[in-house]
Amino acid sequence: MKLLIALGGNAILRKGDKGSVDDQWKNINNAVEIIAKSIESEDNMVITHGNGPQVGYLLEMMHSMNSERALTIDIADAMTQGWIGYMLQQSFSNYLKDRKTISVLTRTLVLDNDKEFSNPTKYVGSYFTRDQAERLSKEFGWVFKEDPRGGYRRVVPSPMPVDILEIDIIKKLLDEKYVVIAAGGGGIPVIKRKDSYIPVEAVIDKDLASSLLATKIKADKFIILTDVKGVAINYGKKDEIWLEKVSVSELHDLYKKGMFPEGSMGPKVLASIKFVESTNGIAIIGDLDDARNVIKGLSGTVIVP
Ligand code: ADP
Ligand code: MG
Repeated sequence: MKLLIALGGNAILRKGDKGSVDDQWKNINNAVEIIAKSIESEDNMVITHGNGPQVGYLLEMMHSMNSERALTIDIADAMTQGWIGYMLQQSFSNYLKDRKTISVLTRTLVLDNDKEFSNPTKYVGSYFTRDQAERLSKEFGWVFKEDPRGGYRRVVPSPMPVDILEIDIIKKLLDEKYVVIAAGGGGIPVIKRKDSYIPVEAVIDKDLASSLLATKIKADKFIILTDVKGVAINYGKKDEIWLEKVSVSELHDLYKKGMFPEGSMGPKVLASIKFVESTNGIAIIGDLDDARNVIKGLSGTVIVP
C-alpha cells in the first residue's frame, strides 16, 4: 500500500503548549510513534507537514532582531522544512528502526497570476491586538486580517500548487523504501518565467500540496491527520453531523454549498476531493491520536470514489 500522510499543526504544537523545544519533541515523537505502530512493513509512505505557526514565528523573530537582514518568506519556508523535517527524520529513525527516513527540500510550482498575490488569505504567526497590528503594518508593510479565532494575524498569499519540482527524486526514494518527508509547509513556492524558476513570498496550503503530491506518487490512500475526528456538517452547532463514509460527489456538493471554512476544514475537504477525483484512491480525514484506526479507514471521514 502506498500512503501519503499529512500531519497537521497538532503533530508539532498542541493547544496550551508554550512551544518549547521539549514540547515540540514530545508532540513529534508522539505522532511518529502512533504512525510507526499503525503501518504495515510493506507500506510505502510519504509524510507531509504544515508550517503556519513556525514560519510566522521565524519571520517575526528575524524582523524583531534586525529587519534589514530578515530573510524572505520562501527562505523561511525552507527553514521550516529543515526544522520540522529534521525532527521527524530523527524521530522516525528511533521508532521505525528497520526503515530509512529522509526529508527532501521541496519546491512547489505556482502560477504568477494566482489571485492570492493581490488578495492574500493565509494566516501566519502570532495573534496581535489591533494596535499592535497597525504598528507592524506601518513598520514592515505586512497585511493583517482579523482571524475568526480571535485577534489580528498577518496574512500572506497562499497560491494554488500546480507542480512538485522534486517529484522524480521523491518517487525514487519511495521505490527504495525510504520514508520520505516532503512538501513540508506546502513546499517552497516558485513561479516559472521563460525557463527559470523564481522564488515567491507565499505559504502554500499544506493540504492542497499534499493532495497534489499524493496524486503524483499515485498513492492508494491520502490521509490527513488533524485535531478533530473528521469532517462535520454544521460543525459546532446543535445539529452537527459527523461524516463517516462519504462519496466524493456528495462531499463535492457540500463543499460547493460553502459548508467548510477556508483556512481550516475547507482546504482539507478540497484536497481530498481533488485526490479522489483524479486517482480513484481513498482519502481519509481523522484524528492524529486515533491514527491507527484512521489509517485503516475504521475512524475519521472516509472519502471514496
Ligand atoms: P491542521 O493544523 O491539522 O491543518 P486546522 O486547524 O487547519 O488543522 O483545521 C482543523 C480544524 O478545523 C478543527 O480543529 C476544527 O476546529 C475546524 N473545523 C472547521 N470546520 C469544521 C468542520 N466542518 N468539521 C470539522 N472540523 C472543522
Ligand atoms: Mg491547526
